[in-house]
Amino acid sequence: MRLLLFLLLILQLFSCSSDSKKPEFVLNELHGNAQGTSFSIKFLAKDSIDYSQEVQTILMNIDMKLSTYVSFSIISGFNKNKDSIKGYAQKDSMFTLVYNKSKEIYQLSEGAFNPTVSALVDYWGFANGSQVPEKIDSIKIDSLKNYLTYFGKCTSEIRGDSIYIHTGIENVQFDFNGIAQGASVDVLAVFLEEQGINDYMVELGGEVRAKGKNQEGEIWTIGIDKPLETASHDQLQATLLLENRSLATSGNYRRFYEKDGVKYSHTIDPTTGFPVNHSLLSVSVLADDCMSADAYATVFMVMGLEKSKTFLKNHPELKLDAYFIFSDESGTYDTWMTEGMKKMLTELE
Ligand code: AMP
Ligand code: MG
Repeated sequence: MRLLLFLLLILQLFSCSSDSKKPEFVLNELHGNAQGTSFSIKFLAKDSIDYSQEVQTILMNIDMKLSTYVSFSIISGFNKNKDSIKGYAQKDSMFTLVYNKSKEIYQLSEGAFNPTVSALVDYWGFANGSQVPEKIDSIKIDSLKNYLTYFGKCTSEIRGDSIYIHTGIENVQFDFNGIAQGASVDVLAVFLEEQGINDYMVELGGEVRAKGKNQEGEIWTIGIDKPLETASHDQLQATLLLENRSLATSGNYRRFYEKDGVKYSHTIDPTTGFPVNHSLLSVSVLADDCMSADAYATVFMVMGLEKSKTFLKNHPELKLDAYFIFSDESGTYDTWMTEGMKKMLTELE
């Protein structure tokens, strides 16, 4: 019944339309809601094509694996299962992809990105159905921080058709929400490329991947929102040319609450166990794939501006560019960006 409702909801939320500006190409557009947010896909093709069914199936399949908001997903099953060995089918390769990438970024970021923050995300009231804590219990936070030390020690083992993750202790939970949206964008982009489409823009919850040109024969232009709590998507901070790359943005203005005059945002600093608390308002990251852009946007929100600058300088091999918006001493906005970003980005008044 739940599955049926879920399917009906997704079906309802899809719409498809097309429009043509260049005579030889048709601009196809697909908009809808998924993963608790909206998506928008634009692509050029010789004809108008409706991929709404395929896109719906792809997004639903991802949710069945990675969504903490779907009670019967693999990740929800993992988190309900207290055992220190958790298994899933080998064919669920999306889970493996995200898990392995998370491990890689966990190591490179020295633990700034850590999916075992799950219990802390829950403690601070940012998980599905969790409550904002009445009062801050530092003993509890310290005990939940203990789980963070186990992500690096997790090992996986293939047995038959299944993969088993050994977490070392019981009750370890995972949260891939810092990387899953970007990974979903990549899957949708790969799907379009498999259909022979070379001009597209895929956006899900603000994470974007673009290739080729738009209907005007120009590189796709993407807007970066102002980091305002009240901003609508038409209040742009900057525009960016996205040429065969991906963009992801994380910000403390997106999901947060205020309690006793203190602002708590949904990015957890694994060293303190507390939500990050610094002057960085938003980070936009460019990478070749959207999964990396998404995870590194979260990483830089954790690291803050100065550490992120050092990280970017020390890791040219990752081919990342980034744009930071922070509040300076006087409380007004300031920005910093990498040299590569300067070539692509135009700040607006
Ligand atoms: P994003 O919007 O991509 O920055 O992802 C934020 C989400 O990632 C949060 O809502 C949490 O579910 C999760 N998260 C929070 N802190 C971390 C962290 N340090 N490492 C990995 N995931 C995190
Ligand atoms: Mg992220």
